[in-house]
Amino acid sequence: MSDMKERALDTLTGAQALLEKKAISAVELTRHFVERIKAIDPELNSVITLCAEEAIAQAEQADARRARGEAGPLTGIPFLHKDLFCTRGIRTSCGSRMLDNFVAPYDATVTEKLAGAGMVMLGKANMDEFAMGSSNETSFYGACRNPWDVTRVPGGSSGGSAAAVAAGLAPVATATDTGGSIRLPAAFCGISGIKPTYGRVSRYGMIAFASSLDQGGPMAHTAEDCAHLLGAMAGFDMRDATSLEDPVPDYTATLDAPLTGLKFGVPKDFFAEGLDEEVAQAIETASAQLEALGAIRVEVTLPHLRASIPTYYVIAPAEASSNLARYDGVRFGYRCSDPQDITDLITRSRSEAFGEEVKRRILTGTFVLSAGYYDAYYGRALAVRKLIAQDFDTAFESVDIIVGPTAPGPAFALDTFAEDPVKMYLTDIFTASANLAGLPAMSIPAGLAAGLPVGLQLIGRRLDEARLLNVAHQFQQTTDWHLKRPELSQ
Ligand code: GLN
Repeated sequence: MSDMKERALDTLTGAQALLEKKAISAVELTRHFVERIKAIDPELNSVITLCAEEAIAQAEQADARRARGEAGPLTGIPFLHKDLFCTRGIRTSCGSRMLDNFVAPYDATVTEKLAGAGMVMLGKANMDEFAMGSSNETSFYGACRNPWDVTRVPGGSSGGSAAAVAAGLAPVATATDTGGSIRLPAAFCGISGIKPTYGRVSRYGMIAFASSLDQGGPMAHTAEDCAHLLGAMAGFDMRDATSLEDPVPDYTATLDAPLTGLKFGVPKDFFAEGLDEEVAQAIETASAQLEALGAIRVEVTLPHLRASIPTYYVIAPAEASSNLARYDGVRFGYRCSDPQDITDLITRSRSEAFGEEVKRRILTGTFVLSAGYYDAYYGRALAVRKLIAQDFDTAFESVDIIVGPTAPGPAFALDTFAEDPVKMYLTDIFTASANLAGLPAMSIPAGLAAGLPVGLQLIGRRLDEARLLNVAHQFQQTTDWHLKRPELSQ
């Protein structure tokens, strides 16, 4: 395959153009990525389950659909699916020993929608166990590595999805974000990712971590690719009680809108202690670029930003402790051997199959919800959550979007937080507040720090995904950070 053609394949839009011109078939495209996964993934560990045969069969159907003139824009486009979206007949592990033997009996709504669009699922992507983590190190299947530097983490929890896209193992991937899990790995791996407004993408069949925060979304090299994939993932779903009924706009239709007059705020609260200097510099340069594109910078503050970590780390574990109660060794998932009685069965199945971090969350969650402590912790966290949401409401009275860093620094080395895992929670300082407020937020590549990618975060008003994608696309029309690829992808 020629270099130019190969390069075109590593984005959804590039592959789409070749498919439409019939310069490549969906089967050839799928084989290309399967081969790359086989060749490169042993170094990364971004894929838990490779579905080569199923993918080729889906690609054959996509080619047949195209031959009949029935292809849609995504027909024949390969993708990797974070391993917490249920896939009928294929293991859905959630990165846990608990679900290592779980073959989902049904498809998640997102799985169904992407299959309906004719997309080809290459396999299931590695992730932190039950999506709990910021580094992808808590996976039962082993840590995933950052293609920019394999001694570093890809970020978490959607580390597999991000590493794979960055290394060109799939043009796009699905991911989920409870406190930053789309944006942080996107930032660490130098790609784009958007967490939509809470309720925009159906959670049906998406294994629950913290139900009031979890939200699915796309990862890709470019904002344009994210717009295509989000359009296919989003929409009302009767099977998810928190699903929003608002119609899904064509996210690609507004990508080219000029930014003239757009108001953006860069809250000074983002630049508090602990922010890497090169990251801070990259955010300033990106802000200047937005101004050069005609946007207007306005002062805003998010005074409760500092409270987002303690608030998130009470609410998320509380919900997790309830959601994970279903894994009891009885109905599905891991079961211990030779149980003495029902208590032994439940206790040992859970003790043996959950990892350290998951246990830590269940213990924390159970504690903050317990009778004597509910008001002091959980009740108070809910009150602070309102204050955090109000900060955004106030800020959005004077700006259209908020801009800042995605993470305090670039990707850290594996095992950095081995001795003090709770310290890792601080990496979510800039991301968790958008989940607490239910707002859409995106990360796009915007620089390098110590030679590693830096993410620029864009936070928008409720249901304003189109605006975030528009700003990101305009930024990408005049910068080349999204075109940089790690050496390992060559
Ligand atoms: N790092 C955060 C946590 O560990 C967020 C994870 C996520 O968004 N799924 O909870």
